[in-house]
Amino acid sequence: MRIAVLGAGVSGLSIAQLLNNEFEIDVLEKKEIHGGIARTKSVDGFAYHTVGGHCFNTKYDDVRDFIFNKILPLEEWNKIKRNSRIRFYDYEIDYPIEFSIRQIYQHDPELAQKLTFDFINAVDDGHYPNLEEWFRKKFGNAFAEEYFIPYNTKIWNNEPNKMSHLWVEDKLPIPNKKMFFDGLMANMDDNMPHFEFYYPKSNNQNTFIDALAHNLNILYNFDVQSIDYDSDSKKWAINNDQEYDLIINTTPLNDFTQALTQAPDYIKNSAQLLKGNGISNVLWKTKPTNKTWTYIPNNDYLFHRYIHIGSFNIPNQNYATSEVIGKHTFDEMVNAGKKDSSLLTPIDYNNSDLAYVVFDDNYKKATTDIKNYIDSIGLYTLGRFGEWQYYNMDVCIKKAIDLADKIQNKMM
Ligand SMILES: Cc1cc2nc3c(=O)[nH]c(=O)nc-3n(C[C@H](O)[C@H](O)[C@H](O)COP(=O)(O)OP(=O)(O)OC[C@H]3O[C@@H](n4cnc5c(N)ncnc54)[C@H](O)[C@@H]3O)c2cc1C
Repeated sequence: MRIAVLGAGVSGLSIAQLLNNEFEIDVLEKKEIHGGIARTKSVDGFAYHTVGGHCFNTKYDDVRDFIFNKILPLEEWNKIKRNSRIRFYDYEIDYPIEFSIRQIYQHDPELAQKLTFDFINAVDDGHYPNLEEWFRKKFGNAFAEEYFIPYNTKIWNNEPNKMSHLWVEDKLPIPNKKMFFDGLMANMDDNMPHFEFYYPKSNNQNTFIDALAHNLNILYNFDVQSIDYDSDSKKWAINNDQEYDLIINTTPLNDFTQALTQAPDYIKNSAQLLKGNGISNVLWKTKPTNKTWTYIPNNDYLFHRYIHIGSFNIPNQNYATSEVIGKHTFDEMVNAGKKDSSLLTPIDYNNSDLAYVVFDDNYKKATTDIKNYIDSIGLYTLGRFGEWQYYNMDVCIKKAIDLADKIQNKMM
């Protein structure tokens, strides 16, 4: 059986690896290189992430087994401890904010008392009409107003009261009242997967990406534009050329749906309702730091976070990216960065069209209708943009493992 995997990012490479022994797999990739948004670019002798930071960790045993036993052995990775900070007003505190009340108290006792009072008195009735209400009910009004709403308005370029909470559960530490109280008494760590993470010993994520692409048949510069089904031959034709028995998509769901030439209008219209945000960032030479991330909720400052990617390296290097939602020019970003003396020299920059999917009011119905349609025609869609989800690499890999099982059980 001939299978086309559309897209050679982490999702496409993972599913192709998992099925490569049993089936004839072609990976069709628009760009001249594999890795998608997880790939690094080398500048100034330093491999940096043009999109995000891409450290690896997972709570899934089967993902660990696949990556460390079949792709890149554990001894090829460094284990790094997260050291994240929040720039809060004119001082810095540890991430996550809800365990940093004692640090806030040093600067602003009244605010620390208000945050504590509101957290303890928050009532979580399990009913969340929007993301803002989710923050208010989980963390109390003061945390919501002082931190979560401003930060999330920045990173989504959208007001949290116009967004759904659907993406958030696995993304944030959510302390209960006992954990919060323990955090008031002593230093506490959250148990999120990125509390510790893995980064290749080569100091370049491409070592992992290239291992994931090893031995695959990847057709580069192949831009999938049209997909047609021929009911006589029971084959799918891509760009009126290559023919396959099955297609697994990992390219953006909106574009993929438009490429399905036989899709009904209501499905193509749903695809037009899907919203996503791009990001822009600058790579900087910085003052030395051992921080891994700095979050910046303050609305007066353009960037919402720094990723100190030099701290993913051993030995540590003095580089960071500053990240902002949407398209911004190099000059605009460099000017904004002048406000921060820790950012020394701008080295490179990048704009990406799609980094985050937006969970607005159309999200649930549009994605459900499209996925039901894709299911009904016997195709599969997978990955961060293929499923239009807020997935990290490990979740993309987990979904690939589950899908490979499903296809193997069905076909063998
Ligand atoms: C800012 C940011 C920070 C992140 N940080 C982390 C992190 O620290 N840790 C972590 O685990 N995850 C992180 N992630 C998530 C991680 O990047 C993704 O989960 C993962 O890389 C997505 O892989 P993918 O294959 O699903 O999508 P992509 O990487 O987008 O791959 C899709 C591929 O399809 C190709 N394609 C698109 N259109 C076509 C077409 N028409 N024809 C052919 N090919 C096409 C693209 O060129 C691309 O190669 C982050 C994401 C962002 C945006």
